Amino acid sequence: MFKKILIANRGEIALRIQRACREMGIKAVIVYSEADRQAKYVRLADEAVCIGPAASSQSYLSMPAIISAAEVTDAEAIHPGYGFLAENADFCERVEKSGFVFIGPTPESIRTMGDKVSAKQAMIKAGVPCVPGSEGVLPDDPKEIIRIARQVGYPVIIKAAGGGGGRGMRVVHTEAALVNAVQTTRTEAEAAFGNPAVYMEKFLENPRHVEIQVLADTQRNAVWLGERDCSMQRRHQKIIEEAPAPGIARRVIERVGDRCASACKKIGYRGAGTFEFLYEKGEFFFIEMNTRVQVEHPVTELVTGIDIVQMQIRVAAGEKLPFTQRQIEMRGHAIECRINAEDPYKFTPSPGRITMWHPPGGPGVRVDSHAYTNYCVPPNYDSMIGKIIVHADSREQALARMRTALSETVVEGIKTNIPLHSELMVDAKFVEGGTSIHYLEKWLAQRRR
Ligand code: ADP
Repeated sequence: MFKKILIANRGEIALRIQRACREMGIKAVIVYSEADRQAKYVRLADEAVCIGPAASSQSYLSMPAIISAAEVTDAEAIHPGYGFLAENADFCERVEKSGFVFIGPTPESIRTMGDKVSAKQAMIKAGVPCVPGSEGVLPDDPKEIIRIARQVGYPVIIKAAGGGGGRGMRVVHTEAALVNAVQTTRTEAEAAFGNPAVYMEKFLENPRHVEIQVLADTQRNAVWLGERDCSMQRRHQKIIEEAPAPGIARRVIERVGDRCASACKKIGYRGAGTFEFLYEKGEFFFIEMNTRVQVEHPVTELVTGIDIVQMQIRVAAGEKLPFTQRQIEMRGHAIECRINAEDPYKFTPSPGRITMWHPPGGPGVRVDSHAYTNYCVPPNYDSMIGKIIVHADSREQALARMRTALSETVVEGIKTNIPLHSELMVDAKFVEGGTSIHYLEKWLAQRRR
């Protein structure tokens, strides 16, 4: 096992990985930008290295700064967390060329999955069900584009091959709007991701977002750890996640889960990963794979009892998965609420000093957060300051537990989205379960009226 790991991230996930290292007797090196210098998780790390100014382009996204931090501290492996460089194949390659272990998949896997068109092609080959659409990248010829759209059937969605973070997508309802929409998406994709390639999919009108967590080792063993329902989204950003997905027959999930695990074996995947699907009318449609640990991994940890971050470290060190698919048992129900430093209804970011931080507690309540009283939320990064996760025997009990947890939580000095979560936890449709990915936006629009 490694003696020392460098964590190339910040905030709650840096602390989460640090905790995994501590439990495993591994020393953790934290890197930080000048904006994070005072944070407690930085101060309490075994070692901490400043890698640059607040701007992430000059710190958390600076490959040379991170690799030299690993060199000066004699770390053996680098954990990228999520976001920043976690899905950057070049970073992975440079880490490995510099003689460190990258805690994640191979650069080839990251590259294949990072391009949504090649990812989809790999999945079709591996027998994973995909959203019907264009076979690969859209051609330039407008006539061809129109022909493909007729074949797929309106409405369609034009998506950037190199897209991510919910950006670079456009829904088209009519043939009249098609060619222009493709052109605009191309231009945007070129500007945002440096890749103008776009592809087309059938636009599913009322799907749910259901994803499968996988774990694979370097000896071609792969398992899936159940599913997560992440349909509560605003602007394609998840805010609530739960496991299991309410109201979906186990055999339907098992079929798709088994396909994901066998796809991992086929593509030689290693580490943790997530297959994201849209689920509509009893069917699963693959949309993309995330080749890293996800924000919402704790809900899976709570229902399976498996520490996903520790497993990532173990398989990166060459260990075999310590369980088979049959030994994985799902117990109870878990729900996660992402706590963001923002106005709960206008969503404007609300950075600044937290004058009072009182997290919830009690049985089945987990808080993953780097925040504390007097912590200053920097304005430079994502607004998520932590997650409240609950686990109980049933969904009903988990909902009750989350309501209690939210009511106990006190955050003063900045605005958070806790009031929004509290409202959603008693919303009749959410409580019933199975709402679609459009539910939250519609709910918000109605609330404003
Ligand atoms: P990103 O990498 O930017 O998150 P995804 O491909 O995962 O892109 O899509 C993000 C979100 O966009 C999905 O969760 C869903 O809400 C919506 N979306 C993507 N593809 C479709 C589709 N074919 N039909 C309906 N909605 C879609």
